[in-house]
Amino acid sequence: MLENTSDFADLHWLLDTLQCIDVGVVGIDKQRHVQVWNGFVASHSGISPGAAKNSTIFELFPDQDLDWMRRTIDTVFQLGYKAYSSWEQRPYVFRFRSYRPITGTTDFMYQNASFIPISAPNGEISHIAIIIYDVTETVTNKLALETVNHQLTEFSRTDGLTQLFNRAHWEDRLKDEFQRFSRTKSTASLVIFDIDHFKKVNDTYGHQAGDEVIRETARILRETARATDICGRYGGEEFVAILIDTPANNALIFAERVRSRIEELTVTYDDIEIRFTVSLGISELNDTISTAHQWLEQSDQSLYLAKSSGRNCIKSFTDITTD
Ligand code: GH3
Ligand code: MG
Ligand code: MG
Repeated sequence: MLENTSDFADLHWLLDTLQCIDVGVVGIDKQRHVQVWNGFVASHSGISPGAAKNSTIFELFPDQDLDWMRRTIDTVFQLGYKAYSSWEQRPYVFRFRSYRPITGTTDFMYQNASFIPISAPNGEISHIAIIIYDVTETVTNKLALETVNHQLTEFSRTDGLTQLFNRAHWEDRLKDEFQRFSRTKSTASLVIFDIDHFKKVNDTYGHQAGDEVIRETARILRETARATDICGRYGGEEFVAILIDTPANNALIFAERVRSRIEELTVTYDDIEIRFTVSLGISELNDTISTAHQWLEQSDQSLYLAKSSGRNCIKSFTDITTD
């Protein structure tokens, strides 16, 4: 009860504050009719307090999640407890446009919200105050940071020249695949290949031309591989591919595709036309292989055999063991 002029002055002061604060305040009665609609809500919604008063919030925001809003309001009226909504569960309670000129990466305002039960003098809950906090800036900063972190992770995994996985990340994936095989026994093959006489490319045409040859080789590998295959640049002009669910005979088809596409390729650099070939080694994963390193070692031995057999060819580990 307002008993004297001092109480009225306090009320006036409070209402003024309510109008001006940088937080949204919506007051609704038991019939869900708006009774309070402060300046923040009016300016962000574009609906004046006069137009909002005595409408239901369901009429004012018909495109919101009405079921959730009804349930929340009913629960607060029935139980008398506060309810909260975080932007992580739902980005906003009322869809307001975002007016951030600098962080304008989103076209709506991210909001946290509280639903606070307000008791009448008889103790009964007569109203709910919905308090809206604009958290757009915090959220956009957080999302931007996540994007940068994601890019950094990608960057740390990727070889700069070819955009294939770099050796460290590829070796991690090799270990993962080996572990997976230990559990599932679903086979995989490893293909490793090396450009033939690459020193001659560098010596004859220069290092930049050599780099272009490496880039083009990576492109052929990427275009030949499936999305599930794990391709990497292992070293200078050595490339690797883990072919998931692929036995050696299918890996041989893949390797032959890489070999012939590279044999047919002409790399043009500074009007120089460069032709080159690759040698490839294959090893299929099986129960006799006890470590990821041993698996890689077997493909490397196959590659060595391909080099010593005249280059521009493919050898499997079985070619060594059955000789
Ligand atoms: P082989 O047929 O036996 O493989 O002969 P090769 O000349 O290719 O011999 P090797 O594989 O040992 O040669 C590797 C060369 O690759 C040596 C190095 O100068 C060159 N190289 C390594 N990394 C890069 C790179 O990033 N760019 C360029 N242009 N050359 C590189
Ligand atoms: Mg080489
Ligand atoms: Mg090499």
